[in-house]
Amino acid sequence: MNAHYPNMLAPLDLGFTSLRNRVLMGSMHTGLEEEKGGYHKQAAFFAARAKGGVGLIVTGGIAPNYAGRVHAFASQLSFPWQVKHHRIVTDAVHAEGGKICMQILHAGRYAYHPISVAPSKIKSPITPFKPFALSARGIRKTVRDYANCAALAQKAGYDGVEVMGSEGYLLNQFLCARTNKRDDDYGGSLENRARLPLEIVRAIRAKVGDNFIIIFRLSMLDLVEGGNDWDEVVQLAKWLEQAGVTIINTGIGWHEARIPTIATSVPRAAFAGITERLRGEVSVPLIATNRINTPEVAEQILSSGQADMVSMARPLLADADFVVKSEAGQRQQINVCIGCNQGCLDHTFKMKRATCLVNPLACYETDLHLTPDSSGRTVAVVGAGPAGMAAACYAAERGFDVTLFEARDELGGQFNLAAKIPGKEEFQETLNYYRNRLKQFGVTVKLNHSANCEELKQFNERIIATGVVPRVPPIEGIERANVVTYQQVLRGEVEVGQRVALIGAGGIGFDMAEYLSEAHQSPTLNAPKWLAQWGVDLAYQQGAGLSERDPSAFESAREIYLLQRKSTRPGKDLGKTTGWIHRAVLKDRQVKFVTGANYHKVDDQGLHISQEGKSSLIAVDTVVLCAGQESNRSLSEQLTAAGVSFSLIGGAELAAELDAKRAIRQALEAVVAL
Ligand code: FAD
Ligand code: NAP
Ligand code: SF4
Repeated sequence: MNAHYPNMLAPLDLGFTSLRNRVLMGSMHTGLEEEKGGYHKQAAFFAARAKGGVGLIVTGGIAPNYAGRVHAFASQLSFPWQVKHHRIVTDAVHAEGGKICMQILHAGRYAYHPISVAPSKIKSPITPFKPFALSARGIRKTVRDYANCAALAQKAGYDGVEVMGSEGYLLNQFLCARTNKRDDDYGGSLENRARLPLEIVRAIRAKVGDNFIIIFRLSMLDLVEGGNDWDEVVQLAKWLEQAGVTIINTGIGWHEARIPTIATSVPRAAFAGITERLRGEVSVPLIATNRINTPEVAEQILSSGQADMVSMARPLLADADFVVKSEAGQRQQINVCIGCNQGCLDHTFKMKRATCLVNPLACYETDLHLTPDSSGRTVAVVGAGPAGMAAACYAAERGFDVTLFEARDELGGQFNLAAKIPGKEEFQETLNYYRNRLKQFGVTVKLNHSANCEELKQFNERIIATGVVPRVPPIEGIERANVVTYQQVLRGEVEVGQRVALIGAGGIGFDMAEYLSEAHQSPTLNAPKWLAQWGVDLAYQQGAGLSERDPSAFESAREIYLLQRKSTRPGKDLGKTTGWIHRAVLKDRQVKFVTGANYHKVDDQGLHISQEGKSSLIAVDTVVLCAGQESNRSLSEQLTAAGVSFSLIGGAELAAELDAKRAIRQALEAVVAL
């Protein structure tokens, strides 16, 4: 028994096979599935996670037929000639001692192509195509296609399949009255609505025999009107067990639900309680999911009996060695997923290859290599924001002798400020990771040290990551005491009044509006409160897990105006999968959005603006500048003037559209190039 996380690291006996621990790497579409040479890239990606000790891997979703593809070019497994491609992946995982299941995903009405099918002809609110209702013949063919797909997966060497039955995809659409309006044997009563998923499970079991894992991802909390109630969920789980599933995984929320389920602001393990409710109702192992991102959270879920396994998808993108580091008692060395979605889901939704903000090597295992260097070269890294800290760690990992200079008295740069925003507490994990990593690699860290040109000449290599400074727009009265920058506010250097105008509605403007309007402790740190605020009821008093929202969700600590000069929708450039959450929170708190603003002056009365030629006063006590950033280039300009070579990364290189994802990735690329 492992002394550190005994429950998480305990094997799980499935009768015909055993898993080495309780960590499931949950299904994630990475985009490698559809890339040229993608099977080799997937093989390297999954093999790294198998080597890192994960108990069972589930691949991204693969369609059982054309209609089921998520988009026209998405992956499908239907033909014997495709088996050899999947072999590349399964062989690589098995060579590292891992086990892997293939997820079978039929998108139903979520398919992004015109020949999508569903139980009934009802368009989803998040896709443009109206689906065709499956005919009785179409249903029979779908069952055969699933069974065929699973049999091919078995031939390809997978240890099992996961049948995707949640998140609002086809089988979930059949299971719920919301989308199933059929009047034949596949609609109406629960028994009828469950008929297709159960026929599929039985057909798969009949094809693959007893010694093959079948996981069913069951929606335990639909979070949409017309979703199933708790008694129905329990009944479904029992029928699935009888039909022959090996494990039941938890699904939370349809994609069209307007409740966050995995974003960074969702409290850790917020939904584990729903998996716990199902324990005792069935005897197959149950997997808890969503916002489980550290070994201690996983251990807590397992030791308190909430589940038999935990699913972590994004945390395994962030750190392939999550499990082996846990085993070795190296919790502080784990690169924790911060739930930002910026490198993973946001990429997937834009049809870009997934990666990870905190680990740009993820999904680039065959493209980027940190090869060891024994030249003994010295490397100076200037600036200890995300770009500089990452560069120093990567350079030390390659074997260089690294010195990191930071002008302030702490590491972290702007990321320290980001971590102060309610809902972004998780960012502290990244700061801790880098602090520990710098120590582990013996990087010389010089705080309170503004590096200068002369001392930098002594090094063989220089990486300049001096970041950004807030832009101060030329507005009359900008120098007044009632005008402050977001940095001053977040560093606690200034008082902010009750009525506030924020100049600039970018990512930081939105974050500042959340920070200044938060009337209580961050709900992210209080799961029951957070669930109540979003109207989630794990006790299922009203069906589908929805309830009246807690009134505190609508309270604001201040009267806030969020302004921008553009006339476009505020927050339109925020993250694809998280922007809606920020917009919803500010709307709940009655933050007033002002677009098309021309700023004239600030005086004792507040901020004077005009819109479409019409002047007005926004009567506020404090004006906070969130008007973007400018690169801090003074050092790099001096180096250039002195003819000293260097690489420039992060905000110092380009302030526009800077985020930590780009900063860290540029750090990796600069170090790979050394
Ligand atoms: P910086 O973080 O600016 O770091 C530069 C460092 O260099 C500073 O510590 C500075 O003191 C130091 N320095 C400067 N000159 C010298 C010198 N001569 N010698 C030594 N040291 C020097 N990004 C995201 O991706 N997602 C988010 O959700 C997100 N939220 C944010 C929320 C807020 C409130 C803020 C403020 C930022 C947020 N960001 C977010 C942006 C992110 O923090 C920045 O993109 C990132 O910090 C930029 O990294 P950097 O290393 O290039 O620069
Ligand atoms: P930003 O997103 O570029 O927004 C800057 C804002 O300032 C805009 O609203 C802009 O709108 C306004 N502005 C620009 N120049 C101005 C001027 N001269 N006078 C007045 N207003 C001006 O930058 P940011 O908000 O500072 O964020 C910095 C980076 O951090 C972002 O690029 C973002 O990627 C990252 N970040 C990300 C998140 C996230 O959740 N992913 C959160 C926070 C920060 P107008 O030009 O229309 O006025
Ligand atoms: Fe986690 Fe963000 Fe990385 Fe996605 S990009 S895996 S959410 S840290």
